[in-house]
Amino acid sequence: MRLILVGPPGAGKGTQALHLASHFGIPHISTGDIFRLNIKGETDLGKLAKSYMDAGNLVPDSVTNEMVADRLTHDDAQSGFLLDGYPRNVGQADFLKEALVKADTTLDAVLEFALANEEIIKRLSGRRTCRGCGGVSHVIFNAPKTAGICDLCQGELYQREDDKEEVIAHRLDVYSEQTAPIIDYYRKTGLLKTISAIGEVNEIADRAIAALK
Ligand code: AMP
Repeated sequence: MRLILVGPPGAGKGTQALHLASHFGIPHISTGDIFRLNIKGETDLGKLAKSYMDAGNLVPDSVTNEMVADRLTHDDAQSGFLLDGYPRNVGQADFLKEALVKADTTLDAVLEFALANEEIIKRLSGRRTCRGCGGVSHVIFNAPKTAGICDLCQGELYQREDDKEEVIAHRLDVYSEQTAPIIDYYRKTGLLKTISAIGEVNEIADRAIAALK
């Protein structure tokens, strides 16, 4: 299965990606996670990506495309992959198309998670991320047992710079201007499946798997 997840920030793509990757036995490739790992490791890539990410802007295509092209050459991605957060604009979608042609392979599906803006703002502004394992919780909808502490690994929970309210509005603009056009792009290829991102995690996972059958 070669799969792309698309949807606005806060639609729960990361959580669903974990379920789907394990269901299909494919690697979960999240460009956001790769950037965050590089920021944590203080690499050159991390230093470059940080200023764009903190401001809610896209990291330049030249950097992101090469990073994904390299990741797709790893052994674990040869019989399938799940891309989460990539492509994020039409230029990246074109780049991926060419990379897959060169690798003599094709995509199987693009799964869109649909969610209204007001719900996105509620979800993102309360989202907290663990510094240890990267897991996410929510101050109201999925509160940890102890405030500020991750239930899974006891790591410290923090609010991502780009989950602060002033940055969320900008990320939504970036999504509608730059990322939303790829939905039409993939609709035209017949690969697009759309599901609602509202509901319990397991319910959405079942919906996603049913849409991909
Ligand atoms: P995410 O974790 O997917 O919400 O991504 C967090 C941030 O990482 C985004 O707001 C961008 O700054 C950056 N990022 C992630 N994926 C991409 C991409 N495909 N192209 C450019 N920037 C990206």
